[in-house]
Amino acid sequence: MAKNKIKTKVLKRSEHIVSRSNIDDDAIKVMRRLKNHGFEAYLVGGGVRDLLLGKSPKDFDVSTDAHPGQIHKLFRNSIMIGRRFRLVHVMFRGKVIEVSTFRRDVDAKDKQDKDDLYQKRDNTFGTPEEDAFRRDFTVNALFYDVRSFDIIDYVGGLDDIKKQVIRCIGDPSIRFQEDPVRMLRAIRFAARLNFNIEKKTYRGIAGNYKDIKKASPARMLEEIYKLFMFGVAQPTFKLLKKTKMMSVMLPELDEFVSRGKRGKDSPLWGFLGALDGGLATVSRVRPSLMLATLYYASFKEHLEDLQSEGRRVLHEDVARSVLHDVADRYHIPKKVFYNIVHAFAMQRYFHPSNRNRISTKKLVAREAFPEALALYEIELKATGGDLKLLKPWIKLYGEYKRDNPDAEKPKRTRRRRNNPRKKYPPRKKKE
Ligand code: ATP
Ligand code: MG
Repeated sequence: MAKNKIKTKVLKRSEHIVSRSNIDDDAIKVMRRLKNHGFEAYLVGGGVRDLLLGKSPKDFDVSTDAHPGQIHKLFRNSIMIGRRFRLVHVMFRGKVIEVSTFRRDVDAKDKQDKDDLYQKRDNTFGTPEEDAFRRDFTVNALFYDVRSFDIIDYVGGLDDIKKQVIRCIGDPSIRFQEDPVRMLRAIRFAARLNFNIEKKTYRGIAGNYKDIKKASPARMLEEIYKLFMFGVAQPTFKLLKKTKMMSVMLPELDEFVSRGKRGKDSPLWGFLGALDGGLATVSRVRPSLMLATLYYASFKEHLEDLQSEGRRVLHEDVARSVLHDVADRYHIPKKVFYNIVHAFAMQRYFHPSNRNRISTKKLVAREAFPEALALYEIELKATGGDLKLLKPWIKLYGEYKRDNPDAEKPKRTRRRRNNPRKKYPPRKKKE
């Protein structure tokens, strides 16, 4: 999509549904203050997209021609962040308005090494139009002017919102090579907005999915967690499977889903669907529960396989071996890792026949209990079990929390100096 092929479109107030009353007051204050000081300022990104779709935005981002130092000076309640490209966070009670200066990508043709576009994102300040073109997808590149109420579309995003498609700005292959995480973002937005991925963009993923390996483990893990945040984990992971992204990001899970006659009807989909449907047992889905939901079906299969061979196995050992590779690859914190191991291993105590094997009071006091109970609920829902079985546990846990009000507060972990990250315990080989 060349810049000059697309005609800039401006929608007047009467032509769109975005109303100022749906925009965060503090974001409006920020934009007004910038404008009062002679700068341009627009609401940009996902905020405009979601308002046009009648959804309430997760956050409000502002773009301006003021440089970071100038923005910082205008807002006493702000901090400058970012090393390569500085942004300003204007802090309000309980929220942050992110203000960035218009910038442009260095064109691919100007890049020195055409074979390796990755992370050559030495972008510099630019115009609003250039700022729109450096964004990832057309639906994410719309600008809203708080004063004139105009929506400005440099990239064809309004049409794509109507058509319900996620389309890369520019050549998908180049854009995905520059930043492979954009492929994951395409999948996340498609699932969350229930949009299709436009053909060329989809082909761009098909041709470049292996590049996702280049993203740092920390960024990837953060992105994996984001896939769970909008109640659409099931369609998202189905799309990851379909696009082969899963085979690179989570190869063991991919293999589990593909194995045998499972393919499309993997039990994983049922577990993810149950999580998406919302849970009665937890109010917040923590990262350990996200990962537990992903790997529980695989854990169960391993356990059943070993047990059917008549072997006595420790549930903790099986859990550790199932989680070992993903934990190692993404440097999953030990605390999260063991929370999942324990949540898996605790499942056996929920079965009514096993009740007497452990003190229920001790069980609810364990750190992984909330995840364990949530996982039990997920399994009951996914397999059509009797949800009434949850009741006594919810009651017991409620009593425990009443007596221990700090139970769910995150515990402070002691940070030790010179403590290089320890390797995960070696995986136990199947004998
Ligand atoms: P969400 O509702 O999940 O916050 P969002 O579209 O606002 O969705 P953000 O991650 O908050 O996404 O990013 C804000 C905007 O910055 C995006 O809408 C997009 O225009 C731009 N952007 C973010 N990440 C990238 C990227 N990797 N490449 C290009 N543009 C990006
Ligand atoms: Mg956002």
